[in-house]
Amino acid sequence: MVREILVWPHPVLKQKAQPVTVVDDSIRALIKDLFDSMYAADGVGLAAPQIGVLKNVIVLDTTPRQPESKPLAMVNPQLLSLEGTVDYREGCLSVPGEAEDVERAAIVTVRYLDEQGVEQTLRCDGLLAIAVQHETDHLSGTMFVDHISTLKRELIRKRMKKLQAAQEAERKEAAAAAKKARSGGRSEAR
Ligand SMILES: [Zn+2]
Repeated sequence: MVREILVWPHPVLKQKAQPVTVVDDSIRALIKDLFDSMYAADGVGLAAPQIGVLKNVIVLDTTPRQPESKPLAMVNPQLLSLEGTVDYREGCLSVPGEAEDVERAAIVTVRYLDEQGVEQTLRCDGLLAIAVQHETDHLSGTMFVDHISTLKRELIRKRMKKLQAAQEAERKEAAAAAKKARSGGRSEAR
């Protein structure tokens, strides 16, 4: 199911997610929702807190840019090592329309549980290494905008507030229109 992706600075995005104790069907359902929501929004990664679930679960799919990789779901991901540095222009599904350069490690080694609860270790580079760092950041309540200058972050915050106000107005309008349609339907039936 495609879930609504929270927009920064939503307070849930600042919270720390909790470790998963058992990889069961509820976690696999969460993983499916994360993939559905990520693909619907054309993203390469999504973390559970972005759909309001404070659990240590992320999904990634960088295959459009890295055909040798594959879609990955990671439960309780832990970065074991970081090698080198690289500047990468990052965006985030919770900060729509924005992109800024962030300094990241070029190569990372991550340990995680897969969808079956089996421990895996992966060493990766390129976009996948960036995405792993970006998504694991979400699990500790850190956004890519926390890695950029205060000035740039505050400008983005203003644009997000405007965007949220516009979305809120749209929602209210739609609700009012639906209500009107419902009451219109009732009087016609009478
Ligand atoms: Zn993000």
